[in-house]
Amino acid sequence: MHEVSLMQTTLDIACDHAAQQGAQHIHWIKLRVGELSGVIPEALTLAFEIVTTGTMAANARLEVETVPVICHCSACYQDFQPTGWVYVCPTCHQFTTDLRQGRELELTAMEVS
Ligand SMILES: [Zn+2]
Repeated sequence: MHEVSLMQTTLDIACDHAAQQGAQHIHWIKLRVGELSGVIPEALTLAFEIVTTGTMAANARLEVETVPVICHCSACYQDFQPTGWVYVCPTCHQFTTDLRQGRELELTAMEVS
């Protein structure tokens, strides 16, 4: 499962960060996951439980914030949320490939002690 290696990498970063702060435990971790990141939030939660077992993040809570896709129209300069796989501006009906968000996979916050 792709999500397990992703969560392992995320956990390594989180543990390094916690250790630098002299912390013993990680209580929760928050991730921002874009709709186009190719990651399934439910699979992430399961992967999180697998990789945190026996670590300083054991029993930690995972919060996943889903980030919608936002495109930018280069003809009328507006940002819009596409309704399907074809990114067409709702105002001027131009196609665009300019994605402003929706691909992120970021560790945005965590609580340690
Ligand atoms: Zn437009």
